[in-house]
Amino acid sequence: TEIIPSLLPHTRRLLLLLNPFGGRGLALQWCQTYVLPMITEADISFNLIQTERPNHARELVKGICLAEWDGIIAISGDGLLYEVLNGLMERPDWEEAIKMPVGILPCGSGNALAGAINCNAGLEQALGVELLQNCALLLCHATVSPLDLVAVTTASGTRSFSCLSVAWGFISDVDIESEKYRHMGAARFTLGTLVRLASLHTYRGRLSYLPAAEAVAHRPISRSITMAPNGRLPLQHLPLHRALSDMGLCEERHAFRGTEPAPVACPSPGSPSPSSASALPSPSFSFEPLAGLSPASGADKGQGGGPPDELLVPLEQPVPGSWVTVEDDFVLVLAIYQTHLGADLFTAPFAHFDDGLVHLCFVKAGISRAALIRLFLAMEKGSHFEQECPYLTHVPVRAFRLEPLTRKGILTVDGERVEYGPIQGQVHRGLANLITG
Ligand code: ADP
Ligand code: MG
Repeated sequence: TEIIPSLLPHTRRLLLLLNPFGGRGLALQWCQTYVLPMITEADISFNLIQTERPNHARELVKGICLAEWDGIIAISGDGLLYEVLNGLMERPDWEEAIKMPVGILPCGSGNALAGAINCNAGLEQALGVELLQNCALLLCHATVSPLDLVAVTTASGTRSFSCLSVAWGFISDVDIESEKYRHMGAARFTLGTLVRLASLHTYRGRLSYLPAAEAVAHRPISRSITMAPNGRLPLQHLPLHRALSDMGLCEERHAFRGTEPAPVACPSPGSPSPSSASALPSPSFSFEPLAGLSPASGADKGQGGGPPDELLVPLEQPVPGSWVTVEDDFVLVLAIYQTHLGADLFTAPFAHFDDGLVHLCFVKAGISRAALIRLFLAMEKGSHFEQECPYLTHVPVRAFRLEPLTRKGILTVDGERVEYGPIQGQVHRGLANLITG
């Protein structure tokens, strides 16, 4: 028979969008040194475009012909991926467009999603070039996972799609105030944290949420690593710090609150994910995703701007009766949907890319500086919930609303500053597709 081109496996084509000013401004250099050789060896074809200004990536993604690409990769921090996702959601064909696999190669100062991808692959926590190399290798493997997006609405009616977090108080203050130490790379957060601790603020606010009440099944923390069956990359040739030949063995995770931590062994590569959780530590909270929230569940589609937020009422109206409201003084409020808040901040060890949950975490006023430092130090290992700090609360929710009552403050969505005022969001389960390797 005749060999026609459409019968041959086609070369993956990736659109690489690089922010030359991300992090310490090393993105282009790191990309040339560590990324391009690897993806060339993996026989991936690519176009590399450097962004010229904020929102450039967003506009580009809105205009491109998606059929020409197998994936769009943000080479920067989390901010550039946020632009890519929102560019896709702003397209008239958003419903198809948002299925485009997106990836991240961490070259910014805030690399939370890369930290989550690295962790999901069972790799030891990494920073800098090491994290970049891990993510580049995982990108070559091309495994795609559904990714929850949270539709976030602010008082002016602006709606955007977030894949990481909404933060208020300590965390958003550090994130934004440390911009001036950008030349330090990720260390800017450490310095920013120390500065903020010295003048610890509290914020009065009203926090409302719709609890995710369907507690039925345990959720595994570690996952198996799926290798491309015909992956071309000779792993032993890659200068990874960690022994990737041992990738079938996962790290111990001491992650769940209030339970005896137990090492979790992952199945070997290629075997199916564990369907029974009997051997796993039992968390004090574990939830089955709500099937009705799946975008495929046939709910009405909103016009030209993503799925409708059927759990939310307009910000001017009181929250529905099924919601819980807490009015208090807070040190921080964090709605997080991924495991990591930064590459070395294992903030929500129980989260998963498509668990359909917003993990609402807050620290109430009254906590001592020492206790707050202890929480942040423990967060590197993800063991902060084990301290059973009475000021720290975690609630898995489907939707939330935060109404700041303190007049001045900083709110961030995925690490980017947004208008200060009432803000609310609801999760849309598995709306996007993330290349997780
Ligand atoms: P970092 O983690 O270092 O903050 P991000 O990817 O979050 O890196 O990027 C920070 C911001 O830079 C984002 O808001 C993004 O929109 C913006 N940006 C993207 N490209 C450029 C550019 N060429 N010049 C200036 N800012 C840019
Ligand atoms: Mg950023």
